[in-house]
Amino acid sequence: MRLHEYQAKNIFSRYGIPIPKGRIANSAGEVKQIAEELGGRAVIKAQVLAGGRGKLGGIRLSKTAQEAEELATQILSMDLKGLPVRRVLVDEIVSFNKEIYLGITNDRVERKPVIIGSGTGGVDIEEVARENPEKIVKIYLDAPFGLHDFQTRELAIGIDLPRELWKSFNLICKSLWKVFKENDAAIAEINPLVITHNGELMALDGKMVVDDNSLFRHPELVEIRDLDAEEPVEVEARKYGLSYIKMNGNIGCMVNGAGLAMATLDLIKANGGEPSNFLDIGGGANADKVSTAIRIICADPSVKVILVNIFGGITRCDEVAKGIIAATKVMKDNVPLIIRLAGTNAEQGMQILENTSLHTAQNLEDAAKMAVKFSRRAKK
Ligand code: GDP
Ligand code: MN
Repeated sequence: MRLHEYQAKNIFSRYGIPIPKGRIANSAGEVKQIAEELGGRAVIKAQVLAGGRGKLGGIRLSKTAQEAEELATQILSMDLKGLPVRRVLVDEIVSFNKEIYLGITNDRVERKPVIIGSGTGGVDIEEVARENPEKIVKIYLDAPFGLHDFQTRELAIGIDLPRELWKSFNLICKSLWKVFKENDAAIAEINPLVITHNGELMALDGKMVVDDNSLFRHPELVEIRDLDAEEPVEVEARKYGLSYIKMNGNIGCMVNGAGLAMATLDLIKANGGEPSNFLDIGGGANADKVSTAIRIICADPSVKVILVNIFGGITRCDEVAKGIIAATKVMKDNVPLIIRLAGTNAEQGMQILENTSLHTAQNLEDAAKMAVKFSRRAKK
């Protein structure tokens, strides 16, 4: 679950991280009023669940309340990376001398949380990481021990932070670690953390991603989840208990079990294809769930072929086959389906699929090869 900037900053602030004064607004009229309270000068920020808003024109500065209203009207009619802007954050304008990047995430290779800092933060941090990786400082943490003073000092030195700011930087790093840990975050990030003209540190932007698997113990986060702002197919999939993640290729995948789904994606890649999604339909899926899954895969217009890979354990292959037949009746385009069934009731499943236009494969390797072939044919 990804939080909006204003939500992340509210949480940061509760943990003692300084943020600018400001409020969320639903309309240009509200923006005008908030800007008036702030003395006219304000920064108006599109609240969408995507980064890089500044470069896309989603962040604008106003000099008067009137101008704030006009800018808000523009921003509220925008789409950023396909996501409509429904609300804007109106913050006081903060003047600064320097933009710092500060973030905490989990490093899967090291199997540890890592705190990352850079003295060249701001909107081009991805470019810095690519072209000047030496300007990015990483310090690995031992989760049970948390973040030590010597580590935040090492970070401060690494990013050339003026000595008089070390103390407040230490407190901000510690607070960010607490935010990360107590909220089961996958990412807690401040970019930019600025050194203001008054020589203080302040978080101007906030990003937080919380592990979905931990939401059962964070009812307060579930409460503020903004489903309207998320990828609609992913929301739809979650409603049916399907784990769907959109990818960039054209081979749709429907698999039971996360491990088998990963292996299927690998096999597609190994054969030169590109998957359009990850989808785990879970154990014991019935026909209804299967046909919903196919509908969700087809909602992505780039899908040229669908690969179904089921290893029946609790899941019964005949039930899956029924779901597939049901789904093909309502599918609008003629997207070919390639089906590999193994395990519980696989034979009954294959019988159901006989005498249909669906393609069946004897094993996973063949299924993947066929899918890649179909995806190429469709491209021409
Ligand atoms: P992002 O583009 O989605 O990461 O949005 P940010 O909130 O990080 O804003 C992008 C850039 O806008 C920042 O790096 C700053 O340079 C600038 N910016 C954001 N807030 C303020 C502000 O209050 N005052 C000033 N002067 N610039 C700001
Ligand atoms: Mn930012």
